[in-house]
Amino acid sequence: MSERTIFQKIIDREIPAPILYQDEHCAAFNDINPQAPVHVLIVPKKVIPRVGEATREDQATLGALLLAAGKVATLLGVSERTQGFRLVINHGRDAGETVPHLHVHLLAGRTLEWPPG
Ligand code: 5GP
Repeated sequence: MSERTIFQKIIDREIPAPILYQDEHCAAFNDINPQAPVHVLIVPKKVIPRVGEATREDQATLGALLLAAGKVATLLGVSERTQGFRLVINHGRDAGETVPHLHVHLLAGRTLEWPPG
């Protein structure tokens, strides 16, 4: 069995991190190395290594991640169109993935460049 990810340990409360939001599918907590004033990770409780490896059985989980991201943005007061937020999912080396446990980055609180780096 592969080693448990840091995110599993946070979700299981083995590693302390304030949980900003959770539901049956996912949990959200602040990124330890924030890239914007708001930088939250939305992580499924079911371990899916990366988005391209999700299967049909993961459909509800994938939908729940986006719904949760929207709720977290509202909770944190960044969901107004005039301000806004960005969601990012990194899959694989070239995208910058470092933790092999699917997660959605929610970034907000500053103007974000496009195209991204
Ligand atoms: P990735 O690069 O895989 O898309 O994103 C992984 C993210 O997890 C990074 O932004 C990194 O800062 C964050 N991270 C890594 N270890 C920890 C940790 O122990 N706690 C928290 N809260 N975030 C972490």
